Amino acid sequence: MQIDMEECGICEDCIDVCMEEAISKKAYTVVIDNTKCDNCGECVDVCPVGAIYKD
Ligand code: SF4
Ligand code: SF4
Repeated sequence: MQIDMEECGICEDCIDVCMEEAISKKAYTVVIDNTKCDNCGECVDVCPVGAIYKD
């Protein structure tokens, strides 16, 4: 999973929904640790601006 930071508003909804705790906020960016991600797609569904996509 990747996050398009041009679109992300740092609402943190994806961080809250991720059961694997793969998403975290670092300064003014949000990052996904793809070693933890199981590709469940919950973050893609919850993002209000469609900023998360499969790479
Ligand atoms: S796809 Fe699922 S496991 Fe991966 S970052 Fe998104 S919510 Fe977390
Ligand atoms: S849900 Fe979307 S807009 Fe909100 S922090 Fe995650 S990627 Fe950014």
